[in-house]
Amino acid sequence: MIGNCRIVNPEAALKFVTEMYACKSITLHSKDFELGFTDIQPDKEYEKPQNKKTGFVYPNCCDYHTRMFEAITKWFDSFPNCCDTHKKLLSQKWFNKKQYYGVESKLLNQISYSEYHILNKINKEDWFEDIEEYIEANILSFGQLPEGFGVVGLDLYLFYVENFIEHGLNDYSEKKDKLLIFIREINNENPKKKREESDLNKLKHTYNRWLKLMPFSLPYLKEKEKEYRESIPLLNAKPRINRYTNLVSVSLVSQSKLISLLNIETQKLIQLFNASELISAGISNEINSYQIEIENRLLQIGVSKLTEAFDNEELKYVEVLNKWYKLHRKYFSKIKPLISSQESSASPNFDKKEKTPKRTTQSVIEEYFEVIHNSQGWRYAFRSKDDYRIFVDLLVCFFEQKEYTTPANIIRLNTQTKTKVGNTLHVIYKELSEAPLKSNIQFLSLLKCLSHFSNLTENEIYKVLTK
Ligand SMILES: [Zn+2]
Ligand SMILES: [Zn+2]
Repeated sequence: MIGNCRIVNPEAALKFVTEMYACKSITLHSKDFELGFTDIQPDKEYEKPQNKKTGFVYPNCCDYHTRMFEAITKWFDSFPNCCDTHKKLLSQKWFNKKQYYGVESKLLNQISYSEYHILNKINKEDWFEDIEEYIEANILSFGQLPEGFGVVGLDLYLFYVENFIEHGLNDYSEKKDKLLIFIREINNENPKKKREESDLNKLKHTYNRWLKLMPFSLPYLKEKEKEYRESIPLLNAKPRINRYTNLVSVSLVSQSKLISLLNIETQKLIQLFNASELISAGISNEINSYQIEIENRLLQIGVSKLTEAFDNEELKYVEVLNKWYKLHRKYFSKIKPLISSQESSASPNFDKKEKTPKRTTQSVIEEYFEVIHNSQGWRYAFRSKDDYRIFVDLLVCFFEQKEYTTPANIIRLNTQTKTKVGNTLHVIYKELSEAPLKSNIQFLSLLKCLSHFSNLTENEIYKVLTK
């Protein structure tokens, strides 16, 4: 026994103790232990109900409670033959009915305490939280059998509390409805199913599986990826302290709630992606990478459907994604040839008639200055980018026969670069002009704006260039 917890699987117990001493996180599975009963106190003012006429006290105070008492007694007599879940206990070596003696009186007490508590708190401002916490404390006090064997007496407790809320709160119809929703939610949940559903590992697995299928490498969604990886929506509400147990209750979302959330998030996320906007924004050269991403995800969905057991609700988002990817696959494969034919028919016109001549002159000049030196490029000769730009612009205007003015100041070049600059200017000239260099006085004299040539005659400049 550890506290109120009786371990029924000795191997698990050994592992549990070893881990506890090693300060590891403890991994005792709920199939390996049994939680015993604890007591829940009634409100201070509580007194057993008493029939004013007959003087009989609870549970003999009235017909309703008398019948309830009989039903509970009958149930415990038959326990564990009362239901299929409990019948399984008969074959367990650790099971001993004696340990449950007293559960009938515990049930009677707790039902009466709860009835009193509900009426006692119903007019308080925080009536709902208060009653909710009290009922939760009562539920916990029934303990827990190892997984698969249910809880002893809890279903009867919940049945009678629900019954009381339904018939005993007629003066508070709105509050009654809210409490009924709360208690029915607990009542309708199969305890075994509930435990499985709130299994943290399973929730994480479900969430990660969703992450894997989402198109986070696509534009618009990329920015969202981190957010979704870091904030996993596993908690149902903020953790709060139950005033009756002092336990912090962290309630995990149920598997089904998580999945319906994922269905909603899927819709939200895919709406962020806008393929046609991407195309008109001219990111068309990225189409290949979108296509690859989409094909990868489609493959992943296909493989996941074969290898993973998605439940029906989960399949909703899987199918939505599947369709969405297929739509985009179709869109991109249709749009791609259209874009490339548009580009190939558009570009020659464009190039020949307007933009390209200027670009070509400039790029020819820049290309040669880029290779004037292996690593330094134009910086080998020019001292500043401004100087370089002024000179390139000047040459562009010259070769394109536009108006130009020679710079006011001489452009100072780095020393010992004269020959190389000369050679480079010669190649540029040969590429951009058909007129013989020697007789092109206009060009040669233009070069006097460079410090290397400022004091030379045109003929001397010619000689340097052709060295
Ligand atoms: Zn009664
Ligand atoms: Zn049973």
